[in-house]
Amino acid sequence: MTCQENEQLEAIVEEAKHVITHGKVATYIPALQSADPNALAVAIYRPDGSCLAAGNIDIKFTLQSISKVLVLALALMDRGEETVFHKVGYEPTGDPFDSIIKLETISPSKPLNPMINAGALAVTHLICGNNEEEQFERLLTFVRKLSNNPQVTYCENVAHSEFETAYLNRALLFYMKQHGVITCDVEALMKLYTKQCAIEMTCRDLARIGLIFAMGGIDPDTGVQLIPTAINTICKTFMVTCGMYNASGEFAIRVGIPAKSGVSGGIMGAVPNKLGIGVYGPSLDTMGNSIGGLKMLELLSKEYALSIFRT
Ligand code: GLN
Repeated sequence: MTCQENEQLEAIVEEAKHVITHGKVATYIPALQSADPNALAVAIYRPDGSCLAAGNIDIKFTLQSISKVLVLALALMDRGEETVFHKVGYEPTGDPFDSIIKLETISPSKPLNPMINAGALAVTHLICGNNEEEQFERLLTFVRKLSNNPQVTYCENVAHSEFETAYLNRALLFYMKQHGVITCDVEALMKLYTKQCAIEMTCRDLARIGLIFAMGGIDPDTGVQLIPTAINTICKTFMVTCGMYNASGEFAIRVGIPAKSGVSGGIMGAVPNKLGIGVYGPSLDTMGNSIGGLKMLELLSKEYALSIFRT
């Protein structure tokens, strides 16, 4: 990697600093409100194993909704497409990620896609394992492989904080239990989901996971297929259609990179055959996307012509 590339990345972080004052850190999960609203970081992994990074790159943050795409991959590997898409649909909602409304108005009563909370909860329910602990251990092992970091773990404080306050997610779960979308114990699933959302890592780890998605599910260091190609394609497609909540359409036009965002302020990007990207900036816009993260991805996409929709 060249000095010039590092300088360009630093310049992108500096430029994104101008917009973050317009946002707010998430507060509905109490433990997230202590994040530094001025923090910003970006890391980019290339298939040759080189990694560029700039900003506050040592800060660890929780995955929150970014975990949804990882859980989708694991559930598809565990159960197959037919079982997963029996429980959850394929379509964007245009509603906020935690909305309950379409669960009630669409028939049959199943979540529209796996990237909204209702859909993610239904998919988490499908991870194989005899109990919530085993399911979580399997997920963590998978995430450690994708990030190539055996140290990755979850933040108990954030998991506990969400578990204690997740009234809306519990409402989604009880609604889905009533309608047979989930069959397990609501509290056990809530525990598993809040732990999955609290898996913690740096931008570098996140960029490494993005690289696996970018490379068709193959670990470029070992050549091992960590995610089967067809499942990898499904995950990347959901990142395009639903990965940035109800701002996914605008993001596809402005940035054009398959990406998944979380309310902690992280965004994972996967540029097919080229790059994995991890960005962090806890100051969020009204949809729940990182303001600085969006800006950095937009600048990167323009600078390096990364949109997958370019001819
Ligand atoms: N844990 C969060 C929730 O369920 C994740 C939401 C998000 O990142 N958009 O509300």
